[in-house]
Parts: sequence; C-alpha cells; structure tokens
Amino acid sequence: MNIAPNLRPTAEYQAMDAAHHWHPFTDTKALNAKGARVITGAEGSWLTDSEGHRILDSMAGLWCVNIGHGRDRVVDAVARQMRQLAYYNTFFQTTHPAAAEFAEALTAVAPAHMNRVFFTNSGSESNDTVFRLARVYWDCMGKPNKKVFIGRKNGYHGSTVAAVSLGGMRAMHAQSGLPIEGVTHINQPYWFGEGRYTDPETFGRERAAELEAAIDMVGEENVCAFIAEPIQGAGGVIIPPESYWPEISRICREREILLVADEVICGFGRTGNWWGSETFGITPDLMPIAKGMTSGYVPMGGVLISDRVAGPVMEKGGEFVHGYTYSGHPAACAAGLEVLAIMQEEKLVERARDVAAPALEKKWLSLGDHPLVGEARIKGLVGALEIVRNKETLERFEKPGTVGSRLRDLSIEGGAIMRAVGDTMIISPPLTISGEEIDFLVDTARAALDRLADELTREGAL
Ligand SMILES: *Cc1c(COP(=O)(O)O)cnc(C)c1O
Repeated sequence: MNIAPNLRPTAEYQAMDAAHHWHPFTDTKALNAKGARVITGAEGSWLTDSEGHRILDSMAGLWCVNIGHGRDRVVDAVARQMRQLAYYNTFFQTTHPAAAEFAEALTAVAPAHMNRVFFTNSGSESNDTVFRLARVYWDCMGKPNKKVFIGRKNGYHGSTVAAVSLGGMRAMHAQSGLPIEGVTHINQPYWFGEGRYTDPETFGRERAAELEAAIDMVGEENVCAFIAEPIQGAGGVIIPPESYWPEISRICREREILLVADEVICGFGRTGNWWGSETFGITPDLMPIAKGMTSGYVPMGGVLISDRVAGPVMEKGGEFVHGYTYSGHPAACAAGLEVLAIMQEEKLVERARDVAAPALEKKWLSLGDHPLVGEARIKGLVGALEIVRNKETLERFEKPGTVGSRLRDLSIEGGAIMRAVGDTMIISPPLTISGEEIDFLVDTARAALDRLADELTREGAL
C-alpha cells in the first residue's frame, strides 16, 4: 500500500480545493460546504483516502481502471517511453513507434472489419471525431445531405458540444441550449423505468421500432448515423432486452445509415467480451473508445474505423481536416500497449467472463430479494439496483436521487464505492476483482440497504 509520507492534513487539501478547484459535474457550493473526499493512493481494487480509510473501488475509478490500480508495469512502460520520446505530433506525415505499435495492437483485438484507429484524448473527443468523420463518409459517398444523427434520450456520449448533443441527458441540454442542429433522439430501451406495461421483449422491439420511425420522419436521405451505447452506463446501467439489438441491427442494415456503437464503457472486457458489440451481436461501422483503453493510467481515446467507412474516405476524402495536438501521444500509447499486454497475458477478458462475472452475477442478483430493491440486473461486470419504496407495486421514492445518494454514502462508509444515478445504484468494478472482494462488495451493499431501510422506517418514510 502506498501511503505517501508527505501528506498534509485533510482539511488543508479541502481548503485549497474549495478555494481554487472547480470540479466537473459538481454543485460547487454544496461540495465546498461539505469538503471533498481526498484520495491519496490506490492498489489493486482498493483506494486509500487521506484519513487512512480503505475503500473498495467498485466503479474502477470512473468505469476505466479495468486492470486494477497500481500496476508498476504500466508506470515503467510510460516512464521508459517518456525518457525516449515524451512528445511528438502525428500530424505532418510523421509517426512514432508507440503510436504505430499501439494502432496495430488495438486493431488486432478489434472486430475483424475494423482495421484503423484515429487517436483522441477522451471519449468526448472520440464522439466529436465520429460526428465529423461520419459526415465526411457520406460526402465521399456522394450523399452530402445525410447529416442527421439519431441518438437516444438518456444516452451518454460525453461532455463536449457535439458529444453532449449526440447524448440525451436532459439536464445537460437544458443548461446550455443544446443539442446542436442535426441531432434527434429516440426513447431508450429502459424496461424497468419505462416499459413495465408490457414484457421486456415486446418493449425492446417497440423501442427499436422507434429508430425506423425516426428514419422515416427525418427522411432516410438525410440520416447520417444512429449512435448508442451497447449498455447505457451513465444513464444507469440500462441493459436492453434481448430483442432490442437484433432489431436495431436489422434496421441499420436495411436502411442506409451508419451504426455507431459507443464502446467507451463496454469496450475492453466490461461485458465479458472484448466489445459490448460482441456481447450483443452488433457489427458497428464506427466504435468510439476510451476509458479501459489505457485503464485510466493516462488519458486517451480513439475511434475504431470499419473498412466500409475507411475505404471511401481514404479514396475520395483527401485530407481529413481534423485532429488533436495530442492525438497518439507517446505516453498514452505506451500505457495502452502495456495495458493490452497485461490483459492478454493475464487473460483478463476471459477471466472476467468465466470467473468474475458469474461469481458477481450470482451474488449481485441475490440483492433482488431485499425489500428496497425493485430490480437487480447485471451483464458481465456492470450492474445496477433499482431502489423502490414499495416492492409490490415498485413505486419509487419521491424526489429521485434522495435515497440513492444516502445509499451511496452508507455504502462508502461501509467501505465500498457505489454510484447513484437517481435512485438506481450502479457498479462497474475492475476486471481483476477477486472472489473475496466480490463478497465484500455485495455484503457491503446489503448492509447499506439494511441500514437505509432501518433509517427510513424510523423516519416513517417506508
Ligand atoms: C465516459 C463516456 C464518454 C465520455 O468520455 P470522456 O473521456 O469523459 O470524455 C463517452 N461515452 C460513454 C459511453 C462514456 O461512458
């Protein structure tokens, strides 16, 4: 365990932070009244905070640290690379060994029809690249009118202007007058939240049919692409009914539009296969990636490009006038290469599929018997609990998010991170999580549920 010897008292960091650090996705006033939690170290599946608490990192950082924290091999590979070449660009007919090697290694684990990668620095940038590249593709196909993207309500594709527009987060749109022109959204395949009037499979087909209706409404000759996460992550780990993706696939095949699978969370083993697309039998034309790509050791993202898209764009597009100063940054490529090597040597995807996921699934689904849990669901190593006031009627609590954040705090107090999306609790642990850690995670979640139920009973809220 790395306990840094030179730490100052927690309150000093909190004061500096409150005075000068503007946090993402944060109510700054509320945070500063409370003081930020200060994380000082991490090893394997565990975080250490400035008060010396050990907390199980059941979110793998922010869905990214798939190989676990504190891997010296990655640190050493990055240090070696930075001593050799810390930076050079990849713009002007130039490359470097790390970028070339990582591009080759990545496309080797990508689906067979994807043989090229465009490097970015984040998932958001990847989706901005998708926005540009998909439109260029239709220009090259002689169909410049095909500009409209169809995304989904409550989908998440990042926080830059194009990415947030492709996404369907109502609060994000409302705050800044978005989405931009040329993006429309259909409903999500969220059975528990929106579909209980019918069975999941019928509902999945209904929600997929909305894509067909949207294409007809916009006019097929104007539609560029449909973009979706195989499993919605930030929206609350929404695992679509089995009937959903086959229908979406069929529609994208039959109609002339590109399919973009946002693999930023689902990629790199999260669902028990290398790609969420594999888990759901999808053949996307473009795959934005990030998060697990470097396991969060160094920021990086990318877009995996199918031969279908790459061919015409290379042939007819001329210069793709788009790129980032740090596209293919040597340190990030070195981190990504080492992460891939670790994943392959330790067979982490196979291990997730055959060992960790079945063990976690069994335990996690057992939480479904708790009086506060309306539904427990999981796919691979990403899961959710729907918190309800009445288990019979599945009635929710008033003011969504209130009990969710209390449950999150109780769980962290018990020693395991859980994230709350409204009153949906979500987990996404490292692929390396051990059997004992799985037991600890689920036992801690159950203890937190019990405590919350006790508190709510005493308050007369149940
Ligand atoms: C996190 C996320 C993004 C955005 O990635 P950033 O690196 O935060 O910009 C995009 N798509 C999905 C599905 C994500 O979960």
